[in-house]
Amino acid sequence: DQGLAKTKENLFKRISRAVAGKSRVDDEVLDELEEGLISADVGVETTLRIIERIQKRAAAEKYLNTAELNTILKSEILSLLAENSENSSLTISGDLPKPYVIMVVGVNGVGKTTTIGKLAYMFKNQGKRVLLGAADTFRAAAVEQLTIWANRVDVPIVKQQMGSDPAAVAFDTLNSAKSNDTDVVIIDTAGRLHNKVNLMNELSKIRRVMQKVIPDAPHEVLLVLDGSTGQNAFAQAREFTSATDVTAIALTKLDGTAKGGVVLGISDQFKIPVKYIGVGEKMTDLQIFDRVAFVESLFR
Ligand code: GDP
Repeated sequence: DQGLAKTKENLFKRISRAVAGKSRVDDEVLDELEEGLISADVGVETTLRIIERIQKRAAAEKYLNTAELNTILKSEILSLLAENSENSSLTISGDLPKPYVIMVVGVNGVGKTTTIGKLAYMFKNQGKRVLLGAADTFRAAAVEQLTIWANRVDVPIVKQQMGSDPAAVAFDTLNSAKSNDTDVVIIDTAGRLHNKVNLMNELSKIRRVMQKVIPDAPHEVLLVLDGSTGQNAFAQAREFTSATDVTAIALTKLDGTAKGGVVLGISDQFKIPVKYIGVGEKMTDLQIFDRVAFVESLFR
C-alpha cells in the first residue's frame, strides 16, 4: 500500500477539493476533477472518458450530489480497470503450464532487470523452481546486472558471451528448463528501440526459436514501464504493443511519484492488464496489482 501513497494522496486531495462546499456536481466540480486526474497522469483520453460519463449521469439525475459523485467515480474507475483484467492470460498460482515461460520486454532504465529479480524472488518464495535467461546480449551490463540478481535471489541463470544471438540464449534457456524440471522461466530481452522493424524482427525471432522447444511459449509477455515517466510510458506502450503481443504490464517506480494514475490510463488505452507494480528497489518491492484494493484506498 505504501508504494502508491503519494498518488492516492494527490488524487484524493483533488477529489475532496473538487467537492468541498458543493452541494451538487456542477461544471466547476468537473473541471477540478479533470485537472486532478490529468495531474495524476491518468492521461487525457481516459480522463475525458471518465468526465464525460459523470457529466451524463449528472445531467440525467439533475441533482447529483457530491457523495454520489464519489460513488460514481469509484465505479467508473473500477469498471475501467475491470474491463481489461479479463484480458489477462495469466495466473500466478494454480495450474500453470510447465515450464511457464515469461518473456520480459521494455526499454533500458525502466526497471526491467529489477522486476525480473523481484519476480524470480516471488516465484521462488512460492516454492517454484525458477530459471533466468539473459537474452539481452547487447550490453555487458545487462548480463552482469541480471547475474547479480540471480545470485541475490539464488536462482540459476543461462547466459552466453556478449553479442551472441539472443534467440540462441532463449533456446538454450528453454532446453535447460525442460531438462531441469523448472517451473518458471523468465527471459530478459534487449531494450533498444532503434526502430520498430528491428524490435519486431528481434522479438519474433526469439518467439519462433523458443517455440521449437516449447510450442506455446511464451505464455506471458510482460512489458515493463516506468510509472514515473508519464507520457513516455504511454509512448513506449504504444511502440511495444504494436511490435509484439504484450499480455501484461509491470509499472515500476510508483513509490516515488504522485502520478500513479498512469495505472488507469495505461490499462484503459491499451486494454492490457497492469499485473504488477514496482514500489521500491528491494526484491520484496513488487506487488500484484489489486484493482479493488487500489480503488478502495483512493477514496479512503
Ligand atoms: P533496466 O535497465 O530496465 O534493467 O533497469 P534496472 O532494473 O537496472 O533499474 C534501473 C534503476 O531503477 C535502478 O536503480 C533500480 O534500482 C531502480 N528501480 C527499479 N524498479 C524500481 C521501483 O519500483 N522503485 C524504485 N524506486 N526504483 C526502482
